[in-house]
Amino acid sequence: MLEFLKKITKWLVERIFTPVASVIKKTAVGKPVLKLPSPNPPDEGPESKQSEDHPCPFYMKLKLRFRDIGRMNAIIETLGRDFLTAMPEGAYKSRLGQISFLYRRMHEDLANHEVVELIENAHKHQESHPDDWDEWNRANLREMEVMYRHHCRVDPELMEKRARLAYEGRRIHRDVMMTNNWEEGREFLEQMIGLQRVIAESKCLADNDHATETAYQSLLREYMPGTRIEEIEKFFGEIDKKLKVMLPQILEKQGQRDDPIPLEGPFPPQLQMWLNRSLLQLIGFDFKRGGLYETGHNPVEGGTPDDTRLVIKNVDAANFMESMKSALHEGGHGLYIQGLPRDVWRYQPVGQDMGAAVQESQALLVEMILGRTKEYYQYLAPRVEGLFQKFGDEAMSPENLYALKTRVVPTSDRKKADEVTYFFHINLRTKLERALINGELAVKDLPEAWNAELKANLNIEPDNNCHGCLQDVHWFVGKFGYFPSYTLGHMMAAQLFDQMKRDMQDLPERLREGDFVSIRKWLNRNVHKKGRLMRRDELLNEVTGSPLSTAPLLNHLESRYLLRA
Ligand SMILES: [Zn+2]
Repeated sequence: MLEFLKKITKWLVERIFTPVASVIKKTAVGKPVLKLPSPNPPDEGPESKQSEDHPCPFYMKLKLRFRDIGRMNAIIETLGRDFLTAMPEGAYKSRLGQISFLYRRMHEDLANHEVVELIENAHKHQESHPDDWDEWNRANLREMEVMYRHHCRVDPELMEKRARLAYEGRRIHRDVMMTNNWEEGREFLEQMIGLQRVIAESKCLADNDHATETAYQSLLREYMPGTRIEEIEKFFGEIDKKLKVMLPQILEKQGQRDDPIPLEGPFPPQLQMWLNRSLLQLIGFDFKRGGLYETGHNPVEGGTPDDTRLVIKNVDAANFMESMKSALHEGGHGLYIQGLPRDVWRYQPVGQDMGAAVQESQALLVEMILGRTKEYYQYLAPRVEGLFQKFGDEAMSPENLYALKTRVVPTSDRKKADEVTYFFHINLRTKLERALINGELAVKDLPEAWNAELKANLNIEPDNNCHGCLQDVHWFVGKFGYFPSYTLGHMMAAQLFDQMKRDMQDLPERLREGDFVSIRKWLNRNVHKKGRLMRRDELLNEVTGSPLSTAPLLNHLESRYLLRA
């Protein structure tokens, strides 16, 4: 028995105690034997700067904190995509809880005293050791501060409530669009606007710079950092004035030509999605990091550079051009998201996009500007003629497809609007949402105000509120301050297109031959890979030599719609 105990003790000492003691010893002298996960795992890119050592310890801590905030945001994006496409109905309530909880946690991690102390100390380090800070790190710290200031005075509970209401709103909007129930829509919008006002007021309190701004201005900042309402007013005033002269001239000139031949379906939905995916592949969308899906909801842009799942509304079998338009639009967003500097700055503020106006510029450049050129239809026509088995159908000729897509027809539906009258839809929404948020317009008076504006600008009246003030999902998901980004984006797209034509003299031939990859490369070099290194106008100055202006868009509309043969 004694012998046995001795053997056991020897075995324990040799096999267990000694190795453990040596592990502890080695660890104590700084040689860890247990391999801990690296803070910069290889799947996040070998050149990653987000966890690379920096001489400023405060900035290092900030980078790690923002990395984790970014990870949480990526999880929310994934849950959001799932909500739109695959989530079973029964998971609705628990999903709302999950998403709003994560928003709250993200907000708590961002808006707290530790972050502000780290930012202050990092600024001091930047002043005393300027050589340690390259332009990317400087911009990253700047954007961290912008994010902090933007959120610091908003109660986490409000953010949780906003997230929940946004996802509920998506569902309520879908139902209201089916039932045309104005009362249900009104009740929800009143609740949402009330919450948005409280959030906006907290944002105004964030610092002295914003103490006197209106509620609407403080909401604008979330989507377009640095953009002022006065600047929007000036741009919109110029466009409004010019288009009010140009539109009757365009309609008159159009009236002298034969009407294009309408498309005759059916265009099987499966084939449409095949076409849409193929077009995205042609422009260089990476399907290894994303995909294109349909939804019964109204889609919204989003996703991350590693998981860019684009979502479009269920296709209409009668008209393949509608789903193609949405796919090109979302594809423009998708190329931008996938082209952000993810290997280096994945979750850092400087690695994100430059805001809603630049986002929309990328979507509208692909959808409205390139996707409505004669050359694009010369490429597309013979292919869709074959795909949909419409051999010899005159409606499928390049000239007819181009004429259909560039036909100017005032409509009450923003999503079906042509490139010229699109502005009036955005102008109307900007005006009304500003009045709603600033408390100058009550929701109960919205239908009347909406219909009066539409009548004054486009001389049409919607049949009902679903085709009028309830049609967009934006207000239902709380996106007040987003609409102006469509027009600023359209302006920016036209300005970038001018430069692209100067840089690529053979652009028309490239489009005709379906060489869209060189276009994506140009966009990536000039826009996408810059992340949030600079602001919109700095980017435009660098790429085109001038800040944002209305002239390129107005010239583009004039030459495409008025001067063309
Ligand atoms: Zn968009």
